[in-house]
Amino acid sequence: MTEPKLRILIIGAHPDDADIKAGGTAAKWCQAGHEVKLVSLTNGQAGHHLMPGPALAERRRAEAQAAAAIIGATYQVGSWPDGFLDDRLDYRLSVIRLIREFRPDLVITHRTSDYHPDHRFTGLLVQDASYLVTVPAICPETPPLVASPVILYFWDNFQKPCRFEPHIVVDIGPEFDRLVAMLDCHRSQFYEWLPYNGGYAAEVPPEPGARRAWLGERLRRRIRPLADRYREPLLRTYGPEQGRRVEYVEAFEVSEYGAPLDPAARARLFPFLPAAAPSGGIQRKEWVDVPEE
Ligand SMILES: [Zn+2]
Repeated sequence: MTEPKLRILIIGAHPDDADIKAGGTAAKWCQAGHEVKLVSLTNGQAGHHLMPGPALAERRRAEAQAAAAIIGATYQVGSWPDGFLDDRLDYRLSVIRLIREFRPDLVITHRTSDYHPDHRFTGLLVQDASYLVTVPAICPETPPLVASPVILYFWDNFQKPCRFEPHIVVDIGPEFDRLVAMLDCHRSQFYEWLPYNGGYAAEVPPEPGARRAWLGERLRRRIRPLADRYREPLLRTYGPEQGRRVEYVEAFEVSEYGAPLDPAARARLFPFLPAAAPSGGIQRKEWVDVPEE
C-alpha cells in the first residue's frame, strides 16, 4: 500500500519568502511526489525602486509561478498590498479558509519576531488561525479541519524576545542548484530591487549566466554559516559521518500552536530525514504539546 501524499503549505508574506526560507526542503517533498503549495499573502507590489504598483505585482506573480514550476510546486500570490499587512479580522478569516481549503499536513510560516511587519503579521495570522481552523462556527461556509496541522517556523537570525530554535534541520546540499534556479526566477528582486536597496547594484553581472552564478555564490555565503550554527542538531539527525559534511541547510522550529511534532509525525512529515535513533534525533522534551483547551 502506498502512503498518502503529504500536503505541505508554505505561507510567506512576499512572493519569494517561501522559496528563500524553505525552497530546498520543498524540492525534496516535490521530488518524493508530495504536494507543495507556496503562498505569498501580499502581492509584492512595494518591492521595487522603479516600478512599484500593479505592474510589479503582475511581474512578481509570474516570477513566483516560474520558481514554483522548477520544483513542481504551485505558487499562490495573494492580492493584499505589500507593506500594509496587519491583523485585521478579514485577513484572519481568509487565512483560516486558505488552510481549510488546502487541508495541509504541515504549515510553515514566519516567526512573529521579525524586522518586517508583513512577516510578523503573516506569522500572527497563521498562529491566530491554528486553532480556529477546527472550529465549525468560524467561517461556517468552509468545512473545518478535524485537527490542527503541525506548524513550523522558518529559520531567522532574530534574537529578541527569543531566538529561533532549530528543531528540524534539513541538508539541502543536493537541492542547492535547484534553489538557485528558483531564486533566479525572481529577477525583479535578486537582480534589481534587493541589490539597489542593499547598495550593491553595481555587483550584478549583466549577462544571465554570470548573473545566476553570482546569485549562487551570494546564496552560498549567506546560508553556509547556518550549517555550523546548527551542527549539533545536524549531527543528531544525520549521524557523525554525514552530519559533519553537511554544508547547506534549512531549519525549522515547531510552533506550540499547531499539532505536536512527535516522533511519528516527524517520520511521516520528513520522510527524507534519517529515522531518529533512540538516543538521537530531537529529544521529546523539546516538543510542546498543544493544551486541551
Ligand atoms: Zn518577505
